[in-house]
Amino acid sequence: MIHVKLFGTAGIRGPINEKVTADLALKVGKSLGTYIREGRVTVARDARTSSIMLENALVSGLLSTGVEVVELGLIPTPALAWSTKQLGDAGVMITASHNPPTDNGIKVFNGEGIEFYLEQEEELERIIFSGEYKRAAWDEIKNIRRRDIIDDYIDAVLDFVNHETRLKVLLDEANGAGSVVAPYLLREMGAKVITINAHPDGHFPGRKPEPRYENIAYLGPLVKELGVNLAIAQDGDADRIAVFDEKGNYVDEDTLIALFAKLYVEEHGGGTVVTSINTGSRIDKVVEDGGGKVYRVPLGQPHDGIKRYNAIFAAEPWKLIHPKFGLWIDSFVTMGLLIKLIDESGKSLSELVKEIPTYYLIKKNVKCPEEYKKVVLDMAQHELQKALRDEIKEVLTISGFRFNLIDGSWVLVRPSGTEPKIRVVVEGVTEKRKEELFKLAYEIVSKAVGRLKQSGQV
Ligand code: MG
Repeated sequence: MIHVKLFGTAGIRGPINEKVTADLALKVGKSLGTYIREGRVTVARDARTSSIMLENALVSGLLSTGVEVVELGLIPTPALAWSTKQLGDAGVMITASHNPPTDNGIKVFNGEGIEFYLEQEEELERIIFSGEYKRAAWDEIKNIRRRDIIDDYIDAVLDFVNHETRLKVLLDEANGAGSVVAPYLLREMGAKVITINAHPDGHFPGRKPEPRYENIAYLGPLVKELGVNLAIAQDGDADRIAVFDEKGNYVDEDTLIALFAKLYVEEHGGGTVVTSINTGSRIDKVVEDGGGKVYRVPLGQPHDGIKRYNAIFAAEPWKLIHPKFGLWIDSFVTMGLLIKLIDESGKSLSELVKEIPTYYLIKKNVKCPEEYKKVVLDMAQHELQKALRDEIKEVLTISGFRFNLIDGSWVLVRPSGTEPKIRVVVEGVTEKRKEELFKLAYEIVSKAVGRLKQSGQV
């Protein structure tokens, strides 16, 4: 039997009616019901044109195994995760997050609201490929319950954030699922909210669903024109958040993480912060200054890190987790706490950003055939270690390799998980340092690829 991998780093995702089909959703439903054997599964969806189709197929599959289904309708992913912890033994979100409108996907959560671990996804795949599904007897088939949890979720976030504000906020929801939560949440907090792209529409007529700077640059001038204190932009399923300050400047994603890391460490008088391998030294600097410690984990595995290191805060770029509220990425808690942070500091967001140290980042890819990747990484690590030997403070090898240097600069060389490329990322404490380290690392990696190609090795 051909075993095609269904789950990637963010669940199942791909073009609708090609990779992601109603048939596949039915199988995932049957497989998940078989896996948990009994209990309740919460199901929700984003605003995509294909989400209802996939949801219905998935729910049929779940019901055929005898589990109970709670349908939550169109809500953001963090609200599904929270609801699963309250109501379910597992949860499913139909979403392709920030992908184009032509895609969709399926993300599975456990009863704590944590995305399924790799082993759990592999078990779902195994059941699908074996075809050994549980089949409920006629009198064991359960009903669907429908619940509107939006108000309860907003109340939970309000309780946790515990703050009233008078700030003016510009909110760009990308016509995604965040439209049904963010404006209401912020208004409940007292904020004056101006929305754009804030009605759900699976065609994403306003802008692309990914809130990377190029897609939302227009918010900068709007911030100034409207005189707001900050702008917040979200992705299609609203777990991600991007921010502009009151001057219309985009807040770099590492800086946003550093702001919260600093806040948590100061509140706790220390503690551990978990972040991914691709984030910068400004986070280490503020955490160490506050008496805390940073641990880095592979992309997509912050939950493991939180448990292992008992972290008070965890984040990947744009994806912030507040463990005291829940072990999922929660953009709504993030926006509430960010407003609280601005108010309580008595400063503007741009002033807060200025307190975070600036470093200089560059990233570029080197093309590298899949079969050369491992050897290239080994060669490059060896040579770069030789070249930098007296400057290295710490070597991390959880995904490719990363050299943290004594002066706070760092070099990361890691294989792309999805493309025939090796990523070279350098952050320097000065512009000049960035340039010289990047030139060194990029040349070493390019030469290693060239040498292998020439010799026809591997
Ligand atoms: Mg997302």
